[in-house]
Amino acid sequence: MRDKKNIILLGSTGSIGESCLRLLRKNREKFNLIGVSANNNVKLLSEIVNEFDVPNVVLSNPENAKDYFGKHELTLGSLNLIELSKINCDIVISGISGMSGLHSAFAAISVGNNLAIANKEALVSAGKIFLDQSIKNNVKILPVDSEHSAIFQCLDNHNISNLDFITLTASGGPFLFTPIEDLKNIKPKDAIKHPIWKMGKKISVDSATMFNKALEIIEASILFDIKSEKIEVTIHPEHIIHGLVHYKDGSVIANLGFPDMITPLSVALNWPSRSDLNLKKFSLNSISKLSFYKPDYKKFPALKLGWDALQNPLCSPIVLNAANEIAVDAFLKNKIKFTDIFDIVYETLNSYNPFVPKNIDEVIEIDKIARSHSSQIINRLR
Ligand code: MG
Repeated sequence: MRDKKNIILLGSTGSIGESCLRLLRKNREKFNLIGVSANNNVKLLSEIVNEFDVPNVVLSNPENAKDYFGKHELTLGSLNLIELSKINCDIVISGISGMSGLHSAFAAISVGNNLAIANKEALVSAGKIFLDQSIKNNVKILPVDSEHSAIFQCLDNHNISNLDFITLTASGGPFLFTPIEDLKNIKPKDAIKHPIWKMGKKISVDSATMFNKALEIIEASILFDIKSEKIEVTIHPEHIIHGLVHYKDGSVIANLGFPDMITPLSVALNWPSRSDLNLKKFSLNSISKLSFYKPDYKKFPALKLGWDALQNPLCSPIVLNAANEIAVDAFLKNKIKFTDIFDIVYETLNSYNPFVPKNIDEVIEIDKIARSHSSQIINRLR
């Protein structure tokens, strides 16, 4: 048996990429990094290629290609990104943010590669199509999102019929205790300062609006085939408990640990085994307090849309995700207010009720139309 797993890391220069490379440095005897991609950051991409001797390299956005100094040949553009994820390997890790990660993640499972996925936007928009494809090709989709990794670990697959409900925890983001009347004045630089996680700008804003948790409700329903009414969200600012599974016999199994993406990545890459990462020891004796709050839906109305997207046929997950991506981008460019993000998503959901997609092309079509609706709403607002 081959003793090293061949892995491909999509989005190697982002926050998931950074955690994954930390994991690989601790496990050089276990993994071969055979492919990496980045969107823009060609300097860091070059350093990664040279450090890990990665033979297959893609830069999605060709603009900065001239600054590449990696020792292996660089290929460019989104089509090459798809080709990269089709290379035969043990596992493809998708750390790409947003719908731009959809095609490459789907390509991986379509050719029979296992997929460790942090790219929740792709799962939210095309979840059922992903799951069907993974069953057809007998490949695994392993969650990397910390809450979903927690549920994955707490679930006993043999006893899924004994499951009562699950709890996803939410840090509450940087504005958990900000008065509701101050939310409209929030600037992008404040919204991207997450109290617990160091992440990309898009997901940081999603945490601040709590759209991130709305997406995670949908993601959990897809990954674990759990109905929306069986998903509870609790605010837990310390983010030590990542998720809980409640069984019908009253037993509740929780997953705890320091908030560090290296652990969910290690679970996904080593599953069903585990690896010694030699991390700082976790002890409840050194944790003074854990706190929990009910979500405030008036202050964070976005959260409710997670359940709506699963229950209400007029609330499409694809439209929700697309509108949110467009609105967050406009907010980061100072074109709209923080509180406009929810209003734009809500209005887009009410203005466009798509059909149920049967394949990835139809998902993309719906996504495009939703984006154009949202952009029109933004132009009208300005
Ligand atoms: Mg998460």
